[in-house]
Amino acid sequence: MLTIDGSQGEGGGQILRTSLALSIITGTRISINHIRAKRDKPGLRRQHLTAVRAAAKISEADVSGDQVGSKQITFHPRRTVPGDYRFDVGSAGSTTLVLQTILPPLVLAGGRSTIELIGGTHNPFAPPVDFLQLAFLPILNRMGPSVTLQLERPGFYPVGGGRLRVAIEPATRLAPVAILQRGEILRRRCQAVIANLPDHIAERELARVAAALDWPDDCLETRRYEGNYGPGNLVTIEIECEQLTEVFTGFGRQGVRAEAVAGEAAAEAQRWLAAEAPVGEHLADQLLLPSALAGGGEFITMPPSSHFTTNRDVIGQFLKVPLSTQPVSENHWRLTVGS
Ligand code: ATP
Repeated sequence: MLTIDGSQGEGGGQILRTSLALSIITGTRISINHIRAKRDKPGLRRQHLTAVRAAAKISEADVSGDQVGSKQITFHPRRTVPGDYRFDVGSAGSTTLVLQTILPPLVLAGGRSTIELIGGTHNPFAPPVDFLQLAFLPILNRMGPSVTLQLERPGFYPVGGGRLRVAIEPATRLAPVAILQRGEILRRRCQAVIANLPDHIAERELARVAAALDWPDDCLETRRYEGNYGPGNLVTIEIECEQLTEVFTGFGRQGVRAEAVAGEAAAEAQRWLAAEAPVGEHLADQLLLPSALAGGGEFITMPPSSHFTTNRDVIGQFLKVPLSTQPVSENHWRLTVGS
């Protein structure tokens, strides 16, 4: 049994998600202690519990400690079972983080899967749907599988109730990819999403992004969800380049002005544009696991976050493949997988 210390590095939920995915893929029995020890509310929250149960379901695992608040679990997977699944977080907890847990094993499973996920679809501190569709999945699909994700109903914090549908055509193995440049910028778009909120919020957000990035009006659009949703608001900035697309998001929340929400997304986009490194902060930590599973490949990113280094170290406890992260200049770091 491999024991994973959930308090290492950043001490958050990523240690749990990556460990579950790799436990299934490598067939390793694990015990995870001190789960999310460095978070305000440590232990399993509803979203993490759903991830544990989803991981158990797709791998016919025996699990102990799977309760809300639990700080220790054991997980004994049997085999990856492709199929048609439905997982409901039961709160506005992030569906995309549940997906992050079970997607790696299912893209390497011996058959097709579909997953319906119910809960939050656009949560702070989680990959928003647009990010997965435009930035992450196109790169994962370049490695061999074919994964599509549809947003059937948005779910915003704190109401939730969103629905995602994912279809997975697996690959027998993942192929390495190299992302060393971003290439020319082909398309720019800023979208202000509002659900049951007044139009002026979107207008102020778009104006703020346009001013910060010096973008013309034809890059700006408002997406309104009307009906039984939300309230909800986010700002996404999408920059499509020849080699990849990056997506930067600001999440609207009570007590934070629209200008500040838009400013957060714009600042992140500006940092990435100025660094000229193709792979941005969040994409970098999410590409680590598929890259390690591919056993090769490389990408240039910005100085690594603690989320990145923690995830890299957890992967190193399961897989022997070297993951080397070296600075190549002040703003550029190179991740090299393999020797
Ligand atoms: P927890 O809060 O449950 O303990 P954690 O510490 O692992 O979880 P985060 O550090 O918030 O959670 O990151 C969760 C995941 O969400 C990471 O893979 C990160 O890249 C991704 N993520 C967070 N914010 C964004 C964003 N704005 N765009 C894309 N991905 C994001």
